[in-house]
Amino acid sequence: MDEKFEAEKRAEYLRKTLQYHSDRYYNNDNPEIEDYEYDALSNELKAIEAKYPDLITADSPTQKVGGSAATKFSPVPHTVRMESLQDAFSFEELDDFGKRTSAALKTSGAAYVVEPKIDGLSVSLEYVNGEFTRGSTRGDGDVGEDITENLKTIKSIPQTLTEKVPFIEVRGEVYMPREVFLRLVEKQELNDEKPFKNPRNAAAGSLRQKDAKITAERNLDIFVFNVQQIDGDYDATEHKDSLDYLKELGFKTVPFYTPCESIKEAEAEITRIGEARYTLPFDIDGAVIKVNDFNLREELGSTSKFPKWAIAYKYPPEEKETVINNIAIQVGRTGVLTPVAEFEPVLVAGSVIARATLHNQDFITEKDIHIGDRIKIRKAGDIIPEVVSVVEHTGVTEPYYIPNICPSCGAEVYREEGEAAIRCTNPECPAQLLRNLIHFCSKPAMDIDGLGESVVMMLVNEGLVHNIADIYDLRSIDIAGLDRMGMKSAENLISAIEKSKSNDLSKLISAFGIRHVGEKAAKLLSEHFGTIDAMMSASIIDVLEIEGFGRIMAESVVEFFTKGETLDLINRLREKGVNMASTKEKIDDRFAGQTFVLTGTLPTLTRSEATAIIEQYGGKASGSVSKKTTYVLAGEEAGSKLTKANELGIKVIDEAEFLEMTK
Ligand code: NAD
Repeated sequence: MDEKFEAEKRAEYLRKTLQYHSDRYYNNDNPEIEDYEYDALSNELKAIEAKYPDLITADSPTQKVGGSAATKFSPVPHTVRMESLQDAFSFEELDDFGKRTSAALKTSGAAYVVEPKIDGLSVSLEYVNGEFTRGSTRGDGDVGEDITENLKTIKSIPQTLTEKVPFIEVRGEVYMPREVFLRLVEKQELNDEKPFKNPRNAAAGSLRQKDAKITAERNLDIFVFNVQQIDGDYDATEHKDSLDYLKELGFKTVPFYTPCESIKEAEAEITRIGEARYTLPFDIDGAVIKVNDFNLREELGSTSKFPKWAIAYKYPPEEKETVINNIAIQVGRTGVLTPVAEFEPVLVAGSVIARATLHNQDFITEKDIHIGDRIKIRKAGDIIPEVVSVVEHTGVTEPYYIPNICPSCGAEVYREEGEAAIRCTNPECPAQLLRNLIHFCSKPAMDIDGLGESVVMMLVNEGLVHNIADIYDLRSIDIAGLDRMGMKSAENLISAIEKSKSNDLSKLISAFGIRHVGEKAAKLLSEHFGTIDAMMSASIIDVLEIEGFGRIMAESVVEFFTKGETLDLINRLREKGVNMASTKEKIDDRFAGQTFVLTGTLPTLTRSEATAIIEQYGGKASGSVSKKTTYVLAGEEAGSKLTKANELGIKVIDEAEFLEMTK
């Protein structure tokens, strides 16, 4: 076949594939492939386009800044485009960048600044007279999403600057520190929620939330790295000085930025950062080289996608070889058997690892994994250990198969059609009991102080607990003799167990570990139904009434409450005096997401009374009319606000209509 024709077909395939993955990555914060896999596809497309420039299309991912602004947020047009960066995967490519720069500037070379490339989400922050007024995402570079409220929850973003600069817009990277990410994933796994894949997606997923309260819980952080525009006494002509100035204004700037006189010096700095990479408490996916002088930057200009004065060097993921000693089977809370490879410990991406999940039988079969094999491993997203491939079959000749009986209780296992997971059939399987109990007592569940993994394990192993409800039968005398457990600690434990009886219903629901129901869904269920009895008699339709609940969740809830063992457990817990009702009053937030503007004099209500009613029902009262206004509540002698409302087509209501809405 004609070579060009083949290239054209391949380019079309690559464009489609890259667009699909870009959408998952930027718009859904849920990538399917690793960044280096994406980069390999993107580089292949770039190579084809370089060879056949007429194959470049305007919508090619190589020509566009990824992502688009989701409609769930208000759009923010960027006065200064939020560009992407060109990238390099080798020092040769950096040398070429240096040559291009010199040639364009007709000089022997420029001076640079090298910074770590933070792996997070790009945001713009705007300040008027030193006050934080608006923050947005990058979106497609021209239009981003208004995420001001979410950004306000990040403690390191100053609300007020040290100087009253008339106007400044800065750009930074919001990220999730690695420790915070690991704790979040642990919690998500415990709640049977789908964990985020890496800190970058966790940061993006946490920031692009409609509910800023969720963002607040996620402990995000930021590094600021650029002045986008400024109006005030600012005379920096170099990037390094501008970063120093940002620091003085109170911003948390990139943690280090090193001036380098040449590309060679920059490469040495990149090597240094690469070596220190895994000792940093946050993820970086490269280092950025930037021309330091603003005038030279101006001269160099930009393409439609990135500035020509900067380039990102991407570090390759670290891979190591090791030998599989064993494949262990873990039985999870829901009875799923997960194979785990245990291998000779190796240092990868900053820590020693000796185990990696093999997910399921399909994964093992596809990679043809045998016990004793020499394998290649790495950390996916630099965090989670994973087996990349088998280098050589050096051990057992047979491929590995997950046993057809549960290694914990000996019961049969089964694989449901269409599911990758293999499950133990025994509801009383001790491994499941152990996992369930650990979850039941954990912080997001019944929060029983002192009943951590090791104590729970002892209680199960000693035969003191056969069922979750048994923990409410424990006496201090039974546990005082256990390993490292004196009378005092035993008594403390009993009183912690006792205290958990009066927990809010939402904690008990969360503790049940219903499939697809995490901490937040448990709260919603408990607020909606108020009592466990109401929940038990609810139909799928009833559960679907709760905002945010889909069919799968609703089915899972109803199925859980109809199982015989659930009913036995609830009865036993009830007998022990465990609280089965919501202690929270049902919140009526009928005005949630709505903004009211008051104008004129109302017949009976004062302004503050009307405001209190709006806020009581979860609405917002604002002083000025804009497109975001939902209603203008107008009384006698309403002025310019009423005129503006009419101009913008905002619904105007009077007091009687307003009071009607509160009934
Ligand atoms: P990029 O992330 O490689 O580089 C641009 C970004 O770097 C800017 O938005 C900026 O905010 C950020 N940055 C961090 N620290 C910085 C610093 N000190 N100075 C300047 N900028 C800094 O480019 P991109 O176009 O946003 O995304 C491409 C990346 O996304 C690639 O790594 C690609 O692998 C990945 N991606 C992955 C998938 C997937 O499915 N896994 C899909 C699409 C894109």
